[in-house]
Amino acid sequence: MTAKLIDGKAIAAQIYEEIQAAVAELKEKHGITPGLATVLVGENPASQSYVRSKQKTCTKVGFYSIGEDLPEDASQEEVEGLVERLNADPTIHGILVQLPLPRHLDEEKVLSMISLEKDVDGFHPINIGRLTMKGRKPLFVPCTPAGCIELLVRSGVEIEGKEAVVLGRSNIVGLPVSMLLLHRNATVTICHSRTQDLPATCRRADILIAAVGRPEMVKADWVKPGAAVIDVGINRVEDPTAKRGYRLVGDVDFDEVNEVAGHLTPVPGGVGPMTIAMLMWNTLAGAKHAAGL
Ligand code: NAP
Repeated sequence: MTAKLIDGKAIAAQIYEEIQAAVAELKEKHGITPGLATVLVGENPASQSYVRSKQKTCTKVGFYSIGEDLPEDASQEEVEGLVERLNADPTIHGILVQLPLPRHLDEEKVLSMISLEKDVDGFHPINIGRLTMKGRKPLFVPCTPAGCIELLVRSGVEIEGKEAVVLGRSNIVGLPVSMLLLHRNATVTICHSRTQDLPATCRRADILIAAVGRPEMVKADWVKPGAAVIDVGINRVEDPTAKRGYRLVGDVDFDEVNEVAGHLTPVPGGVGPMTIAMLMWNTLAGAKHAAGL
């Protein structure tokens, strides 16, 4: 038996259809077009490509978007000034500061300056604080963790009462996804680089989320038969037969784990497409919130 493939591209496409329909209704009934501003500082090629694809997706779903590009040597004051201007712009419902920022900038300060109502990346300390507390609702949830949950829910994987293991405790994936699983009443174990006996801990999981950034680390004998496995990892491994000299693999050994798991996400085509879909979802929510809907 092989695992049921969780097709992130297809699920993201379904979400885009839902967003397009909601945007059409917002425009028609309330005269509102959701607006997203991206802020890119410097010329990191990966960041440039992420920002481009976010803007392209905005056009696809019918959003207004603006791209603010600042030079690599932009000062803290310039970046903060830009965020303040976007905070005050009523046509903008979401502000995305592409990370990482150049080293000389205070990333935490920039993120905390984004208006809570426009924090579509969900990294404002107050949104993260609410996410980690019981019974408090953040305005926005970070996109990749939200995408992981959406993949599980839309694939019919039950979360409540299940044993969930999250491999990784980063601020952008491991920690927030653990909180989301907990709020959905899973029993959650968070693993990290000091965890002893990772294979045995992971084997307890009905739901295993891998977000470590280690190519193909999770092997078949780390996985409980029938478990749902979500692979967040995006790792480049050398491959002389590939056109670019490398290929992308996840944190899970797909071929091995495919023989044991009940559900499994591929890399690429699993969590990746969901991150931008959830950013669009958050921007739509921001526009509705601004209109008091
Ligand atoms: P990160 O900040 O580097 O965090 C990695 C986490 O894994 C840390 O908590 C670390 O533990 C733990 N870890 C590292 N090596 C380990 C080991 N050998 N054994 C046990 N734990 C170990 O990474 P991240 O930003 O969360 O990203 C994780 C992966 O997801 C990366 O491949 C990244 O490219 C990918 N990613 C994908 C998307 C997407 O859209 N699909 C979005 C974001 C990230 P310590 O805390 O103890 O150091």
